[in-house]
Amino acid sequence: MNIARFPRRRYTPHATPIEPLPRLSADLGIDLWVKRDDLLGLAGGGNKTRKLEFLVADALARGCDTLITVGAPQSNHCRLTLAAAAREGLKCRLIIEERVPGTYAPQAVGNNLLFDLLGAERVHMVPAGTDLAAALQAEAQAVERDGGKPAILVGGGSSPLGALGYAACAAEIAAQAFDMGLAFDELVVASGSAGTHAGLVAGVAALSWNLPVTGISVRRPSAEQEANVHRLAVETAALMETPAPARETVVVDDRWVGAGYSLPTRAMVEAVRLAASREGLLLDPVYTGKAFSGLIGRAREGAFGDRRRILFLHTGGAPSLHAFAGALRDPDLN
Ligand SMILES: *Cc1c(COP(=O)(O)O)cnc(C)c1O
Repeated sequence: MNIARFPRRRYTPHATPIEPLPRLSADLGIDLWVKRDDLLGLAGGGNKTRKLEFLVADALARGCDTLITVGAPQSNHCRLTLAAAAREGLKCRLIIEERVPGTYAPQAVGNNLLFDLLGAERVHMVPAGTDLAAALQAEAQAVERDGGKPAILVGGGSSPLGALGYAACAAEIAAQAFDMGLAFDELVVASGSAGTHAGLVAGVAALSWNLPVTGISVRRPSAEQEANVHRLAVETAALMETPAPARETVVVDDRWVGAGYSLPTRAMVEAVRLAASREGLLLDPVYTGKAFSGLIGRAREGAFGDRRRILFLHTGGAPSLHAFAGALRDPDLN
């Protein structure tokens, strides 16, 4: 896995910590640890920072001056792409997809406020079901007409190049686990646009590491999500020139999505409250809250079996918490 040959910008000057969660471990009857990717660099941290290190380096190498990307109204990926653009002196335009009809509020706080503060050159709202690839192309053509040179970043930064960030993270976890003398039995992670999950699976395979990785879906049914993750993991391994991960190494649990992407569930609210009140750890309502509700549910039903030492990858997202205050305090969800 020779990732060093790919151009990379550095946005985090250190490895993110791996910390024990002793109180939640006692509650759940497992030995639970957390990899703190919520502490990655750029504005507010989170998993997109690792992908952007490769995606932005590539855009710069191609001489681009404007980043264009797409996300939901509370997109962490859009926030971090804007932050990377600001850091590099690039311009940035966003396509915001109203994935759940009626959820876009122009005056919303959370990431929506940060789009404004981080200096988005243009934020273009489109309804659910819009052809996003076409919308990105149209925006790129608009940039060219204005004399700029656009770089399109796919949703969530989940291209093979972006997923390299999480193959590198798998190597970082392996090195830390070795240093700390900690043999993890399983890794649990939120699975959305698939780049994080796919990069980890490709990285684990490249290291010939027999670490089970379980993705908790935040949007799609298991069969569809497993196919998406596996396809991207194979493409990422091809880019790294490492062995293609086996299909069985991609496992997705889709029971924690609730009514749909970003729609609150009781289990999510319980997970966010437990992590905050028992460990001082802030999760988010859309990704890590649901992923952690899956981890809690799986622990309670004995799904880990005799695998006791579990690592939860905290992929960030807390900057959107305030935008979901209503749901988090809703008596029907508490
Ligand atoms: C984007 C995101 C995820 C999901 O990662 P993917 O690579 O899109 O699957 C998880 N957590 C947070 C906080 C995110 O912003």
